[in-house]
Amino acid sequence: MIDLSKYTKELSELFSSSENILIICHINPDGDSVGAQLALYHYFKDKSKNVSLMAPNYLQEFLKWMDGADMINIFIKERKKCRMLIEGADLIIMMDFNQSNRMGEAEEFVNVSKARKVVIDHHLDPENFADMIISDPSKCSTSELVHELICDINGVKFMNKSYAEALYVGIITDTGNFEHGAYSSRTFRIVADLIETGINKEKIINLIYNNFSSDRIRLQGFALNKRMVVFPEFKTAYIYLSKDDLKEYNHVKGDTEGFVNMPLSIKGINFSALFIEKDNFIKLSFRSKGQFPSNEFASLYFAGGGHLNASGGEYSDTLDNTIAYFLAVLKENVWRFEDNV
Ligand code: 5GP
Ligand code: MN
Repeated sequence: MIDLSKYTKELSELFSSSENILIICHINPDGDSVGAQLALYHYFKDKSKNVSLMAPNYLQEFLKWMDGADMINIFIKERKKCRMLIEGADLIIMMDFNQSNRMGEAEEFVNVSKARKVVIDHHLDPENFADMIISDPSKCSTSELVHELICDINGVKFMNKSYAEALYVGIITDTGNFEHGAYSSRTFRIVADLIETGINKEKIINLIYNNFSSDRIRLQGFALNKRMVVFPEFKTAYIYLSKDDLKEYNHVKGDTEGFVNMPLSIKGINFSALFIEKDNFIKLSFRSKGQFPSNEFASLYFAGGGHLNASGGEYSDTLDNTIAYFLAVLKENVWRFEDNV
């Protein structure tokens, strides 16, 4: 855990001296990136600051209901406006990512901007791409981290209902409803404060998790039934989906979100991979339980990275060849399972 108090003074001065603040989430943003972004937005609104929001490529349907989500400008859809926001900002805050390329096509414009830049994140080993990098991998979510920073800066605990909803979304999505990740007693104390604002937990859970199309649910059934391969001897299972599979189930962006977690429910399975065929490459997602370093595996073999238990990468080959390569490198790494849960 890092000592947040060492950032409080400088961050507080940055906040109060900035006229135009831009908060950016990462490409293909998840609930935590958007939750942390909107929580900070509601804090700045409460303090009557001039604040804008940007996402690199799109916003998933299940996050669009959130208060303030309609204020998020999508870079690839509104390039001119977004470039003006980047150029006009004197403070840019980047949420929930540790590499500059997670801003997609907005990256080059942010990198040349004269604004002061702050990263708030909980991924390991951040690149040096901002003036201030506040990175604490001991936090379950960037949402938890941003709340602690805001409370420090505010002097007393900060809270309101829209802010609480945003943080709640960030915390439940990054921990899979308190199933994985670095959640702690501290997280539950924060959640208690969020609930006391009167947020409707059941409504939020329904909007986040029970909001799928029937095609998406059928694709999930198909993936588990026909496209999952289990290797008990490697404590591993994987799911693969070709472009044709996705087309057959009228796939829309975001439909395969969460699929990679499903094989971890199988007894004895500690490592799970998801292969999705894209136009020129295969996108991979990894999840692990215990000490298997899925991020190291992703960075060593699939030009990727991430957290110990949740990571991803890419491979430029056919689906069949990528799976064959995955199995070959998995065999080399099987020794890592020995001390596992
Ligand atoms: P997901 O499987 O949900 O797409 O990604 C899980 C985590 O893995 C993300 O939070 C991110 O940290 C990391 N990740 C996913 N894909 C990539 C990638 O291509 N490169 C890197 N460096 N990290 C990735
Ligand atoms: Mn996160």
